[in-house]
Amino acid sequence: MWAALLPVGRDPDGGGYHRFAWTPPELECRDWFLDEARGRGLPVEPDANGNLFAWWLPEDGTRDGAVLTGSHLDSVPGGGAFDGPLGVVSAFAAIDLLRERGVRPARPIAVGAFAEEEGARFGVACLGSRLLAGVIDPARARALTDADGRTLAAVLAENGLDPDAIGPDEALLGRVSCFVELHVEQGRALEVPVGAASAIVPHGRWRFDFAGAGDHAGTTRLEDRRDPMLPFARMALAAREAAGRHGTLATVGKVRVTPGGVNAIPSAVTAWLDARGPSAGGVRRTVEDVERAARAEAGAHRVTVGVAEESASEAVEFDLALRDRVCAALGGAPVLPTGAGHDAGVLSARMPAAMLFVRNPTGVSHAPAEHADPADRVAGVEALAAVLEDLTHG
Ligand SMILES: [Zn+2]
Repeated sequence: MWAALLPVGRDPDGGGYHRFAWTPPELECRDWFLDEARGRGLPVEPDANGNLFAWWLPEDGTRDGAVLTGSHLDSVPGGGAFDGPLGVVSAFAAIDLLRERGVRPARPIAVGAFAEEEGARFGVACLGSRLLAGVIDPARARALTDADGRTLAAVLAENGLDPDAIGPDEALLGRVSCFVELHVEQGRALEVPVGAASAIVPHGRWRFDFAGAGDHAGTTRLEDRRDPMLPFARMALAAREAAGRHGTLATVGKVRVTPGGVNAIPSAVTAWLDARGPSAGGVRRTVEDVERAARAEAGAHRVTVGVAEESASEAVEFDLALRDRVCAALGGAPVLPTGAGHDAGVLSARMPAAMLFVRNPTGVSHAPAEHADPADRVAGVEALAAVLEDLTHG
């Protein structure tokens, strides 16, 4: 499976992956998913939100009481090979392993591939699972735009989906008993091949729109300028300072400068703040401090600033009973929290959810150095198979 998947959307120079939702590389990943499901005789049922589900049905053909597994296939810009696909590949491989062992599940197993998990195209992380779970207003989702100004509604329609049909799918949610997502670990916290998640820390994204006045870099006097780059610069520094003060993490990883000419004062700068931390209060205070610093500096330069929350997620404590059962099926496993958001965190609002992490020796993620050793990937598949076998027979 990796041989087919690894070349898709890979930047030949840097080695990073560019698989944004409904762009050609991501559509190729979806085709890969359909091929893998077809090759195993697993019927695929896409939902109205662009998520894919492949079903391994028990002999009586029921879809009720399903154990959902899988992850996502999209990537951040320049992302690693394993964030997302590891969970999908491992799900198919776990089914292969169970079949080899002659296991016949008493409950169905569904392999999911969730759309736009990274939010790299439309800005809202876990968009597919949020829509499915009913935790984002479909009208708001339809109006989300990508960097080219194209709406989600238009992109869905272009890909054969009805934008008016997006939103919670109670029939599907009602058929699923729990979700177990396997994912590459995104730090260096795991010292054995496989662990389980305890919690996801509070996190969110905020967009800062600075608007000034575009003008000539060579003829505009300093006192006449309304340069939005300056409050943006203060904002980026303030993020680091506020994070240090509040024990959080704050990152400005994306900025858009309009018009983006070397010899022009920008007319507008848009920057995105990602803030996370162990407590929701710490994250809130971090964002407030950054906003205050941005507004003060903007005022000094006669620049306006708008701040919009694009997504914010409270702390998620994964279901304790399911986690205990997962750990028991593995004969014990270390339990660790994560600073990364996941579809399992979103879906935990609607069903018991758990996560398995596979060791990442570099500790790097969202970058090409992200890694999982082949032996650890196999250990992940064996762990997921053990968990799925246990959950489909109880
Ligand atoms: Zn991921």
